[in-house]
Amino acid sequence: MTSVRAWDEPGALEEAARLLRAGDVVAFPTETVYGLGALCSLESAVRRVFEVKGRPADNPLIVHVDGVPCARSLAREWTPVAQALAGAFWPGPLTLVLPRAPGLPSAISAGLDTVALRMPAHPCALALVSRAGPVAAPSANLSGRPSPTRAEHVFADLGGRIPLILDGGPCEKGLESTVLDITGEVPVILRPGHVTAADIAAVAGDVGLSPGVLGPLPEGSKAVSPGVMHRHYAPLSRVTVFLGEEEAVRASMAGEYEKLEEAGFRPLMVGIGAFLGYESRTAADMEALARDFYAILLESEKEYTHLLVQGVDGQGVGLALMNRALRAADYSVKVVDGT
Ligand code: AMP
Ligand code: MG
Repeated sequence: MTSVRAWDEPGALEEAARLLRAGDVVAFPTETVYGLGALCSLESAVRRVFEVKGRPADNPLIVHVDGVPCARSLAREWTPVAQALAGAFWPGPLTLVLPRAPGLPSAISAGLDTVALRMPAHPCALALVSRAGPVAAPSANLSGRPSPTRAEHVFADLGGRIPLILDGGPCEKGLESTVLDITGEVPVILRPGHVTAADIAAVAGDVGLSPGVLGPLPEGSKAVSPGVMHRHYAPLSRVTVFLGEEEAVRASMAGEYEKLEEAGFRPLMVGIGAFLGYESRTAADMEALARDFYAILLESEKEYTHLLVQGVDGQGVGLALMNRALRAADYSVKVVDGT
């Protein structure tokens, strides 16, 4: 039995902290997506997270902390760059990959010598960590599915498998945190998010982008962030991303829509511009689409067979949006104007 409780209802946080301390797992809201947490000091609880999600053992977890002192205790080295980035972006959607402290359960890092750390901005996530201790938490979905941005999404995937979901309403950001590897000379973005390359560069100088961000990694390559190797974010409907000049993309999407409908399928067009009420291509619209993107995938799969997603440029949160859309499409892309 899975109970769903408003996170700020009396006793809910206490119950969640009690379950975590007892070695159980609990779903909770963050500002990015919902997380499925285990106390990071309890190896068997961490293993339970992998089990519940069906997560491959080679995909490490992010440890949620309630501040820099907590983060320092989990990292073998806390560098000036780590300090500067944490100072600039914590609490918030930036995960830092650092050398791991000895003694952390190895399952968290999936055998790597590093650990991923983030201080979330959501009051529920922070309160939970402060009460129970640092919490290892990936997104609270079945492995490979779109991440949950509402408690109902968590329930649909994990209901019956976990004892408690803390409900915090819709997540504010809607896409997972930026994952930044700062173990090398130059920080490298392993997964794009709301904290952009430009934001990071303003604090830490040069930034690299992992080749896995906008294309599949070559077969057999050893990924620094193994999570980027796995099929991910995929709804039941078939997703295609259309890239190219805006007018041409719209025409091509409309043509494809008609063809699918004629063949008896139920397609849906998703994007910024003519679709779904995102009126124009402003930064605010992009943020709104980022916030709603997983909900669109999860709601629409109940009704539609095909999603035709309009590509956006890689500015701001657009890069994160395209990264998720391309992965949801399993890189099924239609380049319309040949550029
Ligand atoms: P999730 O929390 O489900 O969004 O997944 C966590 C993401 O962080 C995955 O893409 C992981 O591969 C990545 N990650 C976690 N720990 C590490 C680490 N030590 N090194 C590199 N990437 C990591
Ligand atoms: Mg995930």
